[in-house]
Amino acid sequence: MESVQNIINLKKQVPDNVKIVAVSKTQPAEEILKVYGTGHKIFGENRVQELLFKKERLPSDIEWHFIGHLQTNKVKSLLPHVVMIHSADSFRLITVINREAEKLNLVVKCLIQFHIAREETKSGFSLDEAEAMLQSPDFIKIKNIVFCGVMGMATLTGDMNLVRNEFRTLREYFTILRDKYFIRNPEFREISMGMSGDYAIAVEEGSTIIRVGTLIFGERKNQV
Ligand SMILES: *Cc1c(COP(=O)(O)O)cnc(C)c1O
Repeated sequence: MESVQNIINLKKQVPDNVKIVAVSKTQPAEEILKVYGTGHKIFGENRVQELLFKKERLPSDIEWHFIGHLQTNKVKSLLPHVVMIHSADSFRLITVINREAEKLNLVVKCLIQFHIAREETKSGFSLDEAEAMLQSPDFIKIKNIVFCGVMGMATLTGDMNLVRNEFRTLREYFTILRDKYFIRNPEFREISMGMSGDYAIAVEEGSTIIRVGTLIFGERKNQV
């Protein structure tokens, strides 16, 4: 029952106004149920098939968050099952999410993912790219997405000054976008940043949602 103790400890260390997404990727349904048993209801997955598989087998009041790179051909099957997509990382993807949401008569909560890390493998917008999207005439056609804030992943490094600076940058991007484009949208208020190794710094730098996997569940199981 380590995961139970881990989530309880984590909640003691994180202010009440910071949401915790328990990242359950590669973890079996039984493990998720243990954590759910403590009253925790917010879980995150990074693969569509895996999320759908688990959702069918777990309590229906779990709030599923999608946190991984989303392929456009999987948007349609995902949308009815998630509370929030953290990883809206291109205008093309946002356009597809909007189109599929319209067909399903849904309004989908999304975060704009920014590339703040050194690693090129991580995806997301630059500030210029995000502003180009937000100023584009095509953006006005996006009616079936509610933009709720920003998301980013810091560089995987022991250099905590670098990590802190990246989180600070993400918070600045958040403030710029809110003040310039979302001032009349009170739902634009989330900063999703911080994982097992850096959540404490993220919270200090203004995170409103942390996404924590290994610190709750232990090492990930092999991906199937
Ligand atoms: C896996 C993952 C996490 C959680 O990582 P841990 O280091 O296990 O806490 C958070 N965010 C994203 C986008 C992930 O893919």
